[in-house]
Amino acid sequence: MMKVLVTDLIGTPGAHREDEVSIHITAIMDAAKLDGPVTGLVRYDAGVRDIMASGRMRYVATATCIRCLVEFEYPGKARFSQLYAEDPQSEDILAINDPGWIDIEEPIRDEVLLSLPLSPICRSDCAGLCSTCGTDLNREPCEGHEDVSSSPFAILAQLLDPEDL
Ligand SMILES: [Zn+2]
Ligand SMILES: [Zn+2]
Repeated sequence: MMKVLVTDLIGTPGAHREDEVSIHITAIMDAAKLDGPVTGLVRYDAGVRDIMASGRMRYVATATCIRCLVEFEYPGKARFSQLYAEDPQSEDILAINDPGWIDIEEPIRDEVLLSLPLSPICRSDCAGLCSTCGTDLNREPCEGHEDVSSSPFAILAQLLDPEDL
């Protein structure tokens, strides 16, 4: 929860204010995790009976490259806009709480979660790992492998084939 007082804006339609915001967010996904500050300039616009909060947020998450499995810093961005009303009439609208504050953590957290990468790649030309020996091909070349069908593992797989038992 991050409470922001908006008493100066309530009842003054057309008025607005901007605040530099830094909020600590912890979010863990399969391939990326964030445990640190999300920062940005948040603008609050007053309507007749409501307040619109919006901003462009920035953060640095730790991502795991899906090709080479190396962890790297992923600079992320998330935009949010959220309407608040004294008497919210829909699920999309959050409450302006007494005596005049709103919580901006919820909408920021939602957008940050959506913006975390599902399939991060450390760099566009990441060569990944050799699928046979696991060598990190970004660091050293793989010498190559014999025809897989003649490898000991393939012969073992044949021995284990139920039709041969
Ligand atoms: Zn990589
Ligand atoms: Zn290899």
